[in-house]
Amino acid sequence: MSRIFSCFFFCVWALAAEPADWIWSGRYVITMDAQRRVIENGAVAVRGERIVAVGSKAEIDARFQPRQRLDRPDAILAPGLIDTHTHAAMSLLRGVADDLNLQDWLNKFIFPAESKNLSADYVRWGTRLGVAEMLLGGTTTFTDMYYFEDVVAEVAKEAGMRGVLGETIIGFPVADAKTPADALRFTEGYLQRFRNDPLVIPAVAPHAIYTNSDETLKAARALANKYHAPLLIHVSETKKENDDEQTKRHMTPVKALDALGVFNGRTVAAHCVWVNDADMAILKARGVGVAHCPSSNMKLASGVAPVVKMRALGIAVGLGPDGPAGSNNDFNLFEEMDLAAKLAKVTSSDPRALPASAALEMATLGGARVLGLEKEIGSLETGKRADLIEVRLDRPNAVPVYDPVSQMVYALKAEDVRDVMVNGRQVVRDAKILTLDEPQILQKAAEYGAKVRASLK
Ligand SMILES: [Zn+2]
Repeated sequence: MSRIFSCFFFCVWALAAEPADWIWSGRYVITMDAQRRVIENGAVAVRGERIVAVGSKAEIDARFQPRQRLDRPDAILAPGLIDTHTHAAMSLLRGVADDLNLQDWLNKFIFPAESKNLSADYVRWGTRLGVAEMLLGGTTTFTDMYYFEDVVAEVAKEAGMRGVLGETIIGFPVADAKTPADALRFTEGYLQRFRNDPLVIPAVAPHAIYTNSDETLKAARALANKYHAPLLIHVSETKKENDDEQTKRHMTPVKALDALGVFNGRTVAAHCVWVNDADMAILKARGVGVAHCPSSNMKLASGVAPVVKMRALGIAVGLGPDGPAGSNNDFNLFEEMDLAAKLAKVTSSDPRALPASAALEMATLGGARVLGLEKEIGSLETGKRADLIEVRLDRPNAVPVYDPVSQMVYALKAEDVRDVMVNGRQVVRDAKILTLDEPQILQKAAEYGAKVRASLK
Protein backbone atom coordinates (compact mmCIF):
# COMPACT_ATOMS: atom_id res chain seq x y z
CA MET A 1 0.00 0.00 0.00
CA SER A 2 2.73 2.44 0.97
CA ARG A 3 4.53 1.57 -2.25
CA ILE A 4 1.42 2.54 -4.24
CA PHE A 5 1.20 5.84 -2.36
CA SER A 6 4.86 6.71 -2.86
CA CYS A 7 4.60 5.80 -6.55
CA PHE A 8 1.52 8.03 -6.79
CA PHE A 9 3.29 10.99 -5.19
CA PHE A 10 6.41 10.45 -7.32
CA CYS A 11 4.30 10.43 -10.50
CA VAL A 12 2.42 13.60 -9.49
CA TRP A 13 5.75 15.33 -8.74
CA ALA A 14 7.29 14.13 -11.99
CA LEU A 15 4.30 15.46 -13.97
CA ALA A 16 4.31 18.79 -12.12
CA ALA A 17 8.10 19.31 -12.24
CA GLU A 18 9.59 21.51 -14.93
CA PRO A 19 11.77 19.70 -17.45
CA ALA A 20 15.52 20.30 -17.53
CA ASP A 21 18.32 18.66 -19.48
CA TRP A 22 20.79 18.80 -16.58
CA ILE A 23 21.07 19.54 -12.90
CA TRP A 24 24.66 20.10 -11.67
CA SER A 25 25.11 20.45 -7.93
CA GLY A 26 28.08 21.18 -5.68
CA ARG A 27 29.17 21.84 -2.10
CA TYR A 28 29.46 25.53 -3.00
CA VAL A 29 28.10 27.37 -6.03
CA ILE A 30 30.06 30.54 -6.78
CA THR A 31 27.53 32.48 -8.85
CA MET A 32 29.36 35.76 -9.66
CA ASP A 33 25.87 37.31 -9.83
CA ALA A 34 25.24 40.97 -8.86
CA GLN A 35 25.20 40.07 -5.15
CA ARG A 36 28.23 37.76 -5.58
CA ARG A 37 26.25 34.98 -3.89
CA VAL A 38 28.05 31.80 -2.87
CA ILE A 39 25.40 29.15 -2.27
CA GLU A 40 26.26 26.29 0.07
CA ASN A 41 24.82 22.98 -1.19
CA GLY A 42 23.69 24.68 -4.36
CA ALA A 43 22.68 23.61 -7.85
CA VAL A 44 22.19 24.88 -11.38
CA ALA A 45 19.47 23.68 -13.77
CA VAL A 46 20.17 23.77 -17.51
CA ARG A 47 17.78 23.49 -20.45
CA GLY A 48 19.23 23.45 -23.95
CA GLU A 49 22.10 25.92 -24.14
CA ARG A 50 21.05 28.02 -21.14
CA ILE A 51 20.83 28.12 -17.36
CA VAL A 52 17.18 28.04 -16.26
CA ALA A 53 17.69 28.33 -12.48
CA VAL A 54 20.36 28.72 -9.80
CA GLY A 55 19.62 28.08 -6.11
CA SER A 56 19.90 25.67 -3.24
CA LYS A 57 20.03 22.01 -4.27
CA ALA A 58 16.79 21.40 -2.35
CA GLU A 59 14.96 24.14 -4.28
CA ILE A 60 16.31 23.08 -7.67
CA ASP A 61 15.56 19.40 -7.05
CA ALA A 62 11.99 20.19 -5.96
CA ARG A 63 11.34 22.31 -9.04
CA PHE A 64 12.98 20.40 -11.90
CA GLN A 65 12.87 16.92 -13.36
CA PRO A 66 16.22 16.59 -15.20
CA ARG A 67 17.09 14.13 -17.95
CA GLN A 68 20.63 13.85 -16.53
CA ARG A 69 22.33 15.03 -13.37
CA LEU A 70 25.82 15.47 -11.91
CA ASP A 71 26.08 15.72 -8.13
CA ARG A 72 29.48 16.65 -6.69
CA PRO A 73 29.05 17.13 -2.93
CA ASP A 74 32.83 17.63 -2.65
CA ALA A 75 33.31 20.29 -5.34
CA ILE A 76 32.94 23.97 -6.15
CA LEU A 77 30.58 24.74 -9.02
CA ALA A 78 31.65 27.96 -10.74
CA PRO A 79 31.28 29.85 -14.02
CA GLY A 80 33.59 28.61 -16.79
CA LEU A 81 36.81 30.62 -16.93
CA ILE A 82 37.28 33.13 -19.75
CA ASP A 83 40.63 33.56 -21.49
CA THR A 84 40.85 36.99 -23.15
CA HIS A 85 44.18 36.57 -24.94
CA THR A 86 46.06 33.57 -26.27
CA HIS A 87 47.59 31.83 -29.27
CA ALA A 88 46.41 28.21 -28.96
CA ALA A 89 48.41 26.64 -31.79
CA MET A 90 51.66 28.03 -30.36
CA SER A 91 51.36 25.06 -27.99
CA LEU A 92 53.49 23.19 -30.56
CA LEU A 93 56.35 25.66 -29.85
CA ARG A 94 56.06 25.20 -26.08
CA GLY A 95 59.49 25.87 -24.59
CA VAL A 96 61.24 26.26 -27.98
CA ALA A 97 63.06 29.35 -26.64
CA ASP A 98 62.88 30.61 -23.07
CA ASP A 99 64.33 33.36 -20.94
CA LEU A 100 64.50 36.07 -23.63
CA ASN A 101 62.94 39.49 -24.09
CA LEU A 102 59.97 39.85 -26.45
CA GLN A 103 61.87 41.20 -29.48
CA ASP A 104 64.65 38.56 -29.39
CA TRP A 105 62.15 35.80 -28.69
CA LEU A 106 59.89 36.84 -31.61
CA ASN A 107 62.52 37.74 -34.19
CA LYS A 108 65.16 35.07 -33.53
CA PHE A 109 62.95 32.08 -32.71
CA ILE A 110 59.19 32.38 -33.08
CA PHE A 111 58.85 34.10 -36.45
CA PRO A 112 61.55 31.83 -38.07
CA ALA A 113 60.03 28.66 -36.54
CA GLU A 114 56.59 29.68 -37.77
CA SER A 115 57.82 30.55 -41.28
CA LYS A 116 59.38 27.08 -41.64
CA ASN A 117 56.59 24.99 -40.11
CA LEU A 118 53.20 26.64 -40.29
CA SER A 119 50.41 24.94 -42.26
CA ALA A 120 46.69 24.40 -41.81
CA ASP A 121 47.41 20.89 -40.46
CA TYR A 122 49.96 22.25 -37.98
CA VAL A 123 47.43 24.81 -36.73
CA ARG A 124 44.74 22.11 -36.46
CA TRP A 125 46.87 19.87 -34.21
CA GLY A 126 48.38 22.77 -32.27
CA THR A 127 44.91 24.15 -31.55
CA ARG A 128 43.61 20.71 -30.54
CA LEU A 129 46.52 20.46 -28.09
CA GLY A 130 45.88 23.96 -26.71
CA VAL A 131 42.12 23.53 -26.49
CA ALA A 132 42.46 20.16 -24.71
CA GLU A 133 44.69 21.76 -22.06
CA MET A 134 42.35 24.73 -21.70
CA LEU A 135 39.15 22.66 -21.32
CA LEU A 136 40.78 20.27 -18.85
CA GLY A 137 41.83 23.34 -16.84
CA GLY A 138 38.35 24.88 -16.70
CA THR A 139 38.61 27.45 -19.50
CA THR A 140 35.34 27.49 -21.43
CA THR A 141 35.94 30.54 -23.67
CA PHE A 142 39.21 31.43 -25.39
CA THR A 143 40.24 34.52 -27.29
CA ASP A 144 42.74 33.58 -29.96
CA MET A 145 45.00 35.40 -32.42
CA TYR A 146 46.75 33.26 -35.01
CA TYR A 147 46.96 32.19 -38.65
CA PHE A 148 44.50 29.82 -40.38
CA GLU A 149 41.93 31.01 -37.85
CA ASP A 150 39.19 29.24 -39.84
CA VAL A 151 40.89 25.99 -38.78
CA VAL A 152 41.04 27.23 -35.16
CA ALA A 153 37.27 27.86 -35.41
CA GLU A 154 36.68 24.35 -36.77
CA VAL A 155 38.62 22.88 -33.83
CA ALA A 156 36.71 25.02 -31.30
CA LYS A 157 33.42 23.68 -32.69
CA GLU A 158 34.73 20.10 -32.76
CA ALA A 159 35.81 20.45 -29.09
CA GLY A 160 32.55 22.18 -28.11
CA MET A 161 34.44 25.21 -26.79
CA ARG A 162 33.44 28.86 -27.06
CA GLY A 163 35.89 31.15 -28.88
CA VAL A 164 36.44 34.72 -29.94
CA LEU A 165 38.85 33.89 -32.72
CA GLY A 166 40.82 36.51 -34.62
CA GLU A 167 42.67 36.01 -37.91
CA THR A 168 46.11 37.63 -37.58
CA ILE A 169 47.06 40.40 -39.98
CA ILE A 170 50.78 41.19 -40.03
CA GLY A 171 53.05 43.23 -42.29
CA PHE A 172 55.22 40.42 -43.67
CA PRO A 173 54.51 37.24 -45.67
CA VAL A 174 53.05 34.41 -43.55
CA ALA A 175 51.76 30.91 -44.31
CA ASP A 176 48.16 31.92 -45.05
CA ALA A 177 48.77 35.36 -46.64
CA LYS A 178 51.58 36.84 -48.73
CA THR A 179 50.55 40.45 -48.05
CA PRO A 180 48.31 42.30 -45.58
CA ALA A 181 45.83 42.77 -48.45
CA ASP A 182 45.70 38.96 -48.86
CA ALA A 183 45.20 38.63 -45.09
CA LEU A 184 42.32 41.13 -45.14
CA ARG A 185 40.67 39.22 -48.03
CA PHE A 186 41.13 35.91 -46.21
CA THR A 187 39.72 37.45 -43.03
CA GLU A 188 36.62 38.71 -44.81
CA GLY A 189 35.84 35.20 -46.10
CA TYR A 190 36.38 33.84 -42.60
CA LEU A 191 34.06 36.46 -41.04
CA GLN A 192 31.36 35.57 -43.56
CA ARG A 193 31.72 31.84 -42.92
CA PHE A 194 31.42 31.94 -39.11
CA ARG A 195 29.06 34.84 -38.44
CA ASN A 196 26.02 33.85 -36.35
CA ASP A 197 27.76 30.71 -35.12
CA PRO A 198 26.55 29.54 -31.65
CA LEU A 199 30.12 29.00 -30.34
CA VAL A 200 32.53 31.00 -32.50
CA ILE A 201 32.69 34.78 -32.72
CA PRO A 202 35.03 35.53 -35.63
CA ALA A 203 37.33 38.53 -35.14
CA VAL A 204 39.93 40.63 -36.92
CA ALA A 205 43.39 40.58 -35.30
CA PRO A 206 46.02 43.03 -36.57
CA HIS A 207 49.08 41.81 -34.63
CA ALA A 208 50.29 45.20 -33.28
CA ILE A 209 51.05 48.79 -34.24
CA TYR A 210 54.73 47.92 -34.80
CA THR A 211 54.04 45.06 -37.23
CA ASN A 212 51.40 46.77 -39.41
CA SER A 213 51.18 49.92 -41.55
CA ASP A 214 48.69 52.63 -40.62
CA GLU A 215 46.70 51.77 -43.77
CA THR A 216 46.42 48.11 -42.73
CA LEU A 217 45.33 49.06 -39.21
CA LYS A 218 42.61 51.35 -40.60
CA ALA A 219 41.48 48.67 -43.08
CA ALA A 220 41.34 46.09 -40.26
CA ARG A 221 39.02 48.35 -38.24
CA ALA A 222 36.82 49.03 -41.27
CA LEU A 223 36.53 45.28 -41.94
CA ALA A 224 35.69 44.53 -38.30
CA ASN A 225 32.97 47.18 -38.26
CA LYS A 226 31.49 45.97 -41.57
CA TYR A 227 30.79 42.59 -39.91
CA HIS A 228 30.22 43.86 -36.33
CA ALA A 229 33.23 41.79 -35.34
CA PRO A 230 35.63 42.51 -32.47
CA LEU A 231 39.18 43.65 -33.19
CA LEU A 232 41.99 41.99 -31.19
CA ILE A 233 45.44 43.61 -30.95
CA HIS A 234 48.61 43.66 -28.81
CA VAL A 235 49.03 47.15 -27.28
CA SER A 236 51.90 48.73 -25.30
CA GLU A 237 53.38 45.40 -24.34
CA THR A 238 56.99 46.59 -23.94
CA LYS A 239 58.91 49.76 -23.19
CA LYS A 240 60.57 49.41 -26.59
CA GLU A 241 57.18 49.54 -28.34
CA ASN A 242 56.38 52.76 -26.47
CA ASP A 243 59.80 54.31 -27.06
CA ASP A 244 59.70 53.48 -30.79
CA GLU A 245 56.26 55.09 -31.25
CA GLN A 246 57.39 58.13 -29.27
CA THR A 247 60.41 58.49 -31.59
CA LYS A 248 58.37 57.89 -34.74
CA ARG A 249 55.19 59.85 -33.95
CA HIS A 250 55.72 61.64 -30.61
CA MET A 251 52.74 59.66 -29.33
CA THR A 252 52.16 56.59 -27.17
CA PRO A 253 50.87 53.47 -29.00
CA VAL A 254 47.41 53.99 -27.40
CA LYS A 255 47.23 57.63 -28.57
CA ALA A 256 48.47 56.66 -32.04
CA LEU A 257 45.96 53.79 -32.39
CA ASP A 258 43.19 56.10 -31.23
CA ALA A 259 44.22 58.77 -33.75
CA LEU A 260 44.03 56.10 -36.48
CA GLY A 261 40.47 55.20 -35.39
CA VAL A 262 41.46 51.64 -34.42
CA PHE A 263 39.42 51.87 -31.18
CA ASN A 264 36.20 52.95 -32.95
CA GLY A 265 34.37 49.68 -32.23
CA ARG A 266 34.67 46.63 -29.95
CA THR A 267 38.40 46.21 -29.17
CA VAL A 268 40.34 43.76 -27.01
CA ALA A 269 43.79 45.17 -26.23
CA ALA A 270 46.28 42.63 -24.92
CA HIS A 271 48.82 43.67 -22.28
CA CYS A 272 48.59 47.52 -21.98
CA VAL A 273 51.65 47.45 -19.73
CA TRP A 274 53.20 50.82 -20.63
CA VAL A 275 50.06 52.98 -20.47
CA ASN A 276 49.94 56.39 -18.79
CA ASP A 277 46.93 58.23 -17.34
CA ALA A 278 46.03 59.83 -20.68
CA ASP A 279 46.16 56.39 -22.35
CA MET A 280 43.87 54.92 -19.69
CA ALA A 281 41.42 57.79 -20.22
CA ILE A 282 41.34 56.88 -23.94
CA LEU A 283 40.82 53.18 -23.20
CA LYS A 284 37.94 54.07 -20.87
CA ALA A 285 36.34 56.57 -23.27
CA ARG A 286 36.48 54.11 -26.20
CA GLY A 287 35.26 51.13 -24.15
CA VAL A 288 38.41 49.15 -24.94
CA GLY A 289 38.71 45.89 -22.97
CA VAL A 290 42.12 44.95 -21.61
CA ALA A 291 43.55 41.41 -21.52
CA HIS A 292 45.98 41.26 -18.61
CA CYS A 293 48.61 38.54 -19.02
CA PRO A 294 50.65 38.43 -15.80
CA SER A 295 52.64 35.22 -16.55
CA SER A 296 53.71 36.51 -19.94
CA ASN A 297 54.56 40.01 -18.70
CA MET A 298 56.66 38.52 -15.89
CA LYS A 299 58.40 35.86 -18.00
CA LEU A 300 59.35 38.26 -20.82
CA ALA A 301 60.17 40.98 -18.24
CA SER A 302 57.80 43.29 -20.12
CA GLY A 303 56.64 45.14 -17.00
CA VAL A 304 53.52 45.40 -14.84
CA ALA A 305 50.20 46.55 -16.29
CA PRO A 306 48.44 49.06 -13.99
CA VAL A 307 45.34 46.88 -13.73
CA VAL A 308 44.29 48.11 -10.29
CA LYS A 309 44.05 51.65 -11.64
CA MET A 310 42.32 50.47 -14.81
CA ARG A 311 39.69 48.61 -12.79
CA ALA A 312 39.18 51.65 -10.54
CA LEU A 313 38.54 53.73 -13.67
CA GLY A 314 35.90 51.22 -14.83
CA ILE A 315 37.93 49.75 -17.69
CA ALA A 316 37.00 46.10 -18.31
CA VAL A 317 39.99 43.90 -17.45
CA GLY A 318 40.22 40.16 -18.12
CA LEU A 319 43.00 37.59 -17.94
CA GLY A 320 44.99 35.72 -20.56
CA PRO A 321 47.83 33.22 -20.58
CA ASP A 322 49.15 34.63 -23.89
CA GLY A 323 51.35 32.22 -25.87
CA PRO A 324 52.68 28.97 -24.46
CA ALA A 325 55.85 29.14 -26.61
CA GLY A 326 58.21 30.87 -24.22
CA SER A 327 55.96 33.61 -22.89
CA ASN A 328 54.25 31.46 -20.27
CA ASN A 329 54.43 28.27 -21.18
CA ASP A 330 50.93 26.95 -20.53
CA PHE A 331 47.20 27.81 -20.69
CA ASN A 332 46.32 27.95 -17.03
CA LEU A 333 43.83 30.56 -15.81
CA PHE A 334 44.11 29.36 -12.20
CA GLU A 335 47.77 30.38 -12.36
CA GLU A 336 46.90 33.72 -14.02
CA MET A 337 44.36 34.51 -11.25
CA ASP A 338 46.92 33.72 -8.55
CA LEU A 339 49.68 35.71 -10.28
CA ALA A 340 47.45 38.70 -11.10
CA ALA A 341 46.62 39.03 -7.41
CA LYS A 342 50.20 38.59 -6.23
CA LEU A 343 51.82 40.79 -8.89
CA ALA A 344 49.52 43.68 -7.93
CA LYS A 345 50.34 43.17 -4.24
CA VAL A 346 54.14 42.97 -4.59
CA THR A 347 54.38 45.99 -6.89
CA SER A 348 52.15 48.17 -4.69
CA SER A 349 53.38 46.87 -1.30
CA ASP A 350 49.68 46.51 -0.50
CA PRO A 351 48.20 43.03 0.08
CA ARG A 352 44.73 44.47 -0.47
CA ALA A 353 45.58 45.89 -3.92
CA LEU A 354 43.93 43.04 -5.84
CA PRO A 355 42.03 40.62 -3.58
CA ALA A 356 40.94 37.08 -4.52
CA SER A 357 37.42 38.32 -5.35
CA ALA A 358 38.87 40.73 -7.95
CA ALA A 359 41.11 38.05 -9.48
CA LEU A 360 38.17 35.64 -9.83
CA GLU A 361 36.07 38.42 -11.33
CA MET A 362 38.78 39.10 -13.93
CA ALA A 363 38.73 35.42 -14.94
CA THR A 364 34.92 35.31 -15.25
CA LEU A 365 32.62 38.34 -15.48
CA GLY A 366 35.48 40.77 -16.16
CA GLY A 367 36.61 38.66 -19.09
CA ALA A 368 33.03 38.55 -20.38
CA ARG A 369 32.92 42.38 -20.25
CA VAL A 370 36.22 42.60 -22.15
CA LEU A 371 34.62 40.54 -24.92
CA GLY A 372 31.26 42.35 -24.78
CA LEU A 373 29.62 39.06 -23.76
CA GLU A 374 28.60 39.92 -20.18
CA LYS A 375 24.91 39.36 -20.95
CA GLU A 376 25.70 35.82 -22.16
CA ILE A 377 28.54 34.41 -20.05
CA GLY A 378 30.73 35.11 -16.99
CA SER A 379 28.30 34.22 -14.19
CA LEU A 380 25.83 31.55 -13.16
CA GLU A 381 22.48 33.31 -13.61
CA THR A 382 19.13 32.38 -15.12
CA GLY A 383 19.09 33.08 -18.86
CA LYS A 384 22.85 32.95 -19.37
CA ARG A 385 24.67 30.37 -21.49
CA ALA A 386 25.42 27.19 -19.53
CA ASP A 387 29.23 27.41 -19.24
CA LEU A 388 30.06 25.70 -15.90
CA ILE A 389 32.94 23.99 -14.15
CA GLU A 390 33.12 21.63 -11.15
CA VAL A 391 36.40 21.87 -9.20
CA ARG A 392 37.21 19.11 -6.72
CA LEU A 393 37.71 19.78 -3.03
CA ASP A 394 38.86 16.30 -2.03
CA ARG A 395 42.62 16.67 -2.37
CA PRO A 396 45.24 17.85 0.16
CA ASN A 397 45.61 21.29 -1.46
CA ALA A 398 41.84 21.85 -1.26
CA VAL A 399 40.89 21.42 2.41
CA PRO A 400 39.67 22.83 4.70
CA VAL A 401 37.47 25.47 3.03
CA TYR A 402 36.88 28.75 4.86
CA ASP A 403 36.28 30.89 1.78
CA PRO A 404 35.51 29.18 -1.57
CA VAL A 405 36.57 32.28 -3.57
CA SER A 406 39.96 32.44 -1.87
CA GLN A 407 40.29 28.68 -2.43
CA MET A 408 39.70 29.09 -6.18
CA VAL A 409 42.37 31.79 -6.55
CA TYR A 410 45.10 30.77 -4.11
CA ALA A 411 44.79 27.02 -3.46
CA LEU A 412 43.08 25.16 -6.30
CA LYS A 413 44.88 24.19 -9.50
CA ALA A 414 43.83 23.66 -13.11
CA GLU A 415 44.31 19.91 -12.45
CA ASP A 416 41.53 20.05 -9.84
CA VAL A 417 38.91 20.72 -12.52
CA ARG A 418 36.82 17.57 -12.85
CA ASP A 419 33.85 18.44 -15.08
CA VAL A 420 33.21 21.11 -17.69
CA MET A 421 30.06 22.15 -19.55
CA VAL A 422 30.04 24.61 -22.44
CA ASN A 423 26.80 25.90 -23.94
CA GLY A 424 24.77 23.17 -22.20
CA ARG A 425 27.00 20.28 -23.36
CA GLN A 426 29.32 18.36 -21.07
CA VAL A 427 32.78 18.34 -22.68
CA VAL A 428 34.92 17.13 -19.74
CA ARG A 429 33.83 14.35 -17.37
CA ASP A 430 36.00 13.11 -14.48
CA ALA A 431 38.97 15.05 -15.90
CA LYS A 432 38.64 13.31 -19.28
CA ILE A 433 37.91 15.26 -22.40
CA LEU A 434 34.86 13.83 -24.20
CA THR A 435 35.11 15.65 -27.52
CA LEU A 436 38.76 15.22 -28.59
CA ASP A 437 41.07 12.19 -28.92
CA GLU A 438 43.71 13.06 -26.30
CA PRO A 439 46.18 10.19 -27.00
CA GLN A 440 46.18 11.02 -30.72
CA ILE A 441 46.75 14.73 -29.97
CA LEU A 442 49.73 13.94 -27.75
CA GLN A 443 51.23 11.70 -30.45
CA LYS A 444 50.79 14.38 -33.16
CA ALA A 445 52.29 17.03 -30.86
CA ALA A 446 55.41 14.87 -30.40
CA GLU A 447 55.68 14.40 -34.18
CA TYR A 448 55.40 18.14 -34.81
CA GLY A 449 57.88 18.82 -32.01
CA ALA A 450 60.48 16.65 -33.79
CA LYS A 451 59.80 18.44 -37.11
CA VAL A 452 60.17 21.88 -35.53
CA ARG A 453 63.39 20.85 -33.82
CA ALA A 454 64.85 19.56 -37.11
CA SER A 455 63.79 22.77 -38.93
CA LEU A 456 65.70 24.98 -36.50
CA LYS A 457 69.03 23.14 -36.85
ZN1 LIG B 1 49.97 37.60 -27.48
